[in-house]
Amino acid sequence: MNPKELFAESKTIIPGGVNSPVRAFEPYPFFVKEAKGSHIIDTEGNDYVDHCLAYGPILLGHSDDDVMADVYNQMKMGTAYGAPTENEVKLAKEVIDRVPCAEMVRFVNSGTEATMAAIRLARGFTGRNKIVKFEGSYHGAHDYVLVKSGSGAACLPDSAGIPEDTTKNTLSVPFNDVEALTKLIDEEGENIACIIVEPVMGNIGCVEPNVKYLKFLREITEENDILLIFDEVITGFRVSRGGAQEYYGVKPDLVTFAKVLGGGFPIGAYAGKKEIMSLIAPAGPVYQAGTFSGNPISIQAGLSTLNKLDYEFYGNLARKGDYLRTNISDIVEDLNLDLQVVGLASMFQIYFNPEPVVNYEIAKKSDAKRFLVYFRELLKNGVFIPPSQFECNFISGAHTEEDLDKTAQGIENALKVAWQL
Ligand code: PMP
Repeated sequence: MNPKELFAESKTIIPGGVNSPVRAFEPYPFFVKEAKGSHIIDTEGNDYVDHCLAYGPILLGHSDDDVMADVYNQMKMGTAYGAPTENEVKLAKEVIDRVPCAEMVRFVNSGTEATMAAIRLARGFTGRNKIVKFEGSYHGAHDYVLVKSGSGAACLPDSAGIPEDTTKNTLSVPFNDVEALTKLIDEEGENIACIIVEPVMGNIGCVEPNVKYLKFLREITEENDILLIFDEVITGFRVSRGGAQEYYGVKPDLVTFAKVLGGGFPIGAYAGKKEIMSLIAPAGPVYQAGTFSGNPISIQAGLSTLNKLDYEFYGNLARKGDYLRTNISDIVEDLNLDLQVVGLASMFQIYFNPEPVVNYEIAKKSDAKRFLVYFRELLKNGVFIPPSQFECNFISGAHTEEDLDKTAQGIENALKVAWQL
């Protein structure tokens, strides 16, 4: 079946034709046949340089030979036990060794689960109910964080089916804004359990923090006995060996992971100070559990992946990022376009926006419609990025200079079409 027919049929039996909303782009998405290294191939045989990389999990490249060999071996020995394995202990040690704030780790199955559990833990530890998030940040699809942003105010549900009662304790402020947060904490500080933040906002494109702002977050939370949670579902094990907290030198109380940690398989984790993590059941009174938590396949894939991620790997990857971002910036300049080329390490994006993007308010002013023209042209040029201005693009260790040159050429062609040059 061709993708058009397949999508039409899929829509009759899977809501919207997809199993996660952003995958459904117009007029129809391609359907994947296979992916290897930096390339993804569709059912029609089209080969794309992949900068979506499953929305972040793929860091070594698709189907890395070493990881796959270890995973096949594990599969022969069983796929789920409901009893602990030595590999879980080994992976926990690896996380603790790399991540500055991690003294204890609990593995779960997704980023959504990780943030849900970390927020419950923060509430259990502090005995407070309110939480603070940032406008435009995404922490998964669970009720506490799936909210419309309303500055300083209690947030309203951002989905049908979420009671207002559930989100009334979720407060939000603009990112990178000292004044707004200071005011909120002056008013509500003693009721706030935690501030949860994506250190790099990867769900409105790619917005870096002002490093001073991250340090301010650490100070103001410490002064008010509020826990600081870094949601490193995207940045964890991606922007550096120890994640964004190592990259920016700011240590939170708790951290959440998913994506890269599973080496291409489903996983999530939350970690942090022993004093806090010890409250989790069965050690303590904060309940959290999962049939597939610590799944031996995902744990093996995570272990085998982390084993290949040393400082040299991250140095090489950052050079690839710099190479691509520099080439894109040159193209944008040559075409005389007033756009923002952003990113760090192996993350990048182009904002169709003349203003530097430091928060959601400004990100929203981007020309998202024109971006979709650019996206479709990129596909025609054999380059796959997420179909939205408000997602981040990624680079893997498997991307070659030839791939990145093809991407840059594709971007030049696509920008020309999008801006009718
Ligand atoms: N937090 C962040 C920062 C994310 O980017 C995501 C997913 N894109 C999540 C949490 C939720 O993770 P998952 O999709 O694995 O539930």
